[in-house]
Amino acid sequence: MTDDLKHLERCVALATEALDAGDEPFGSVLVAADGAVLAEDRNRVSGGDDTQHPEFALARWAAENLTPAARSTATVYTSGEHCPMCSAAHAWVGLGRIVYAASTEQLTGWLTEFGVPPGPVAALPITAIAPNIPVTGPFPEFTDRIRALHRRLHERRR
Ligand SMILES: [Zn+2]
Repeated sequence: MTDDLKHLERCVALATEALDAGDEPFGSVLVAADGAVLAEDRNRVSGGDDTQHPEFALARWAAENLTPAARSTATVYTSGEHCPMCSAAHAWVGLGRIVYAASTEQLTGWLTEFGVPPGPVAALPITAIAPNIPVTGPFPEFTDRIRALHRRLHERRR
């Protein structure tokens, strides 16, 4: 298994942990240029703060703990492509590459299929918000598992 797939597997495990804890199924890992895992987090919106996304938390962690040079060569792995808020935070703190397992376009399609009304923020891809960030994804080997996590979330909310 490549390192990219290994880190994405951890993101999906964190997303599952989030869903099991009553949050939304998203998880992310921050990895240094040398491959060391620096930090990880998962979605924590069930307390009522809908900005508690893992990618936003990792951007703030990076701003507090890493030099600008270390940020620019670090990679954020995430189960679902960054939303516009997190894309902006990632770019503002000067982080490097993003690798995501499932795309915003895929998520939007699933939510439409599940009959979920659109959220308050436009479902734009990372490249529309932060055009200089190198992005890789989606990875089809994760599609069915991530779709199933989102189906569980919205079945629970019915
Ligand atoms: Zn976000």
